[in-house]
Amino acid sequence: MAEKKKNPKQRCPNCGRAMKQQFIGLKHCKCGTSWQKGSGYFERTPGMVFALERKITKKSKNSVRSKQVPVIRYDEKQG
Ligand SMILES: [Zn+2]
Repeated sequence: MAEKKKNPKQRCPNCGRAMKQQFIGLKHCKCGTSWQKGSGYFERTPGMVFALERKITKKSKNSVRSKQVPVIRYDEKQG
């Protein structure tokens, strides 16, 4: 397993400004470019809604572990 380097100041590939973290694993730039861990850069559209969702990561007899992950929802009203 390769160790991941921390990269707190991620720069926008579109305008070069530092991107602002909205959630863990999801960053956004003022120019409209967003980045999500796993899927990479994409352009945010008005119908996109960023939200947090709980995901169960570990389940055992006595405990359930969950973590919050960013999800992208699409507002159907604006479609
Ligand atoms: Zn930008």
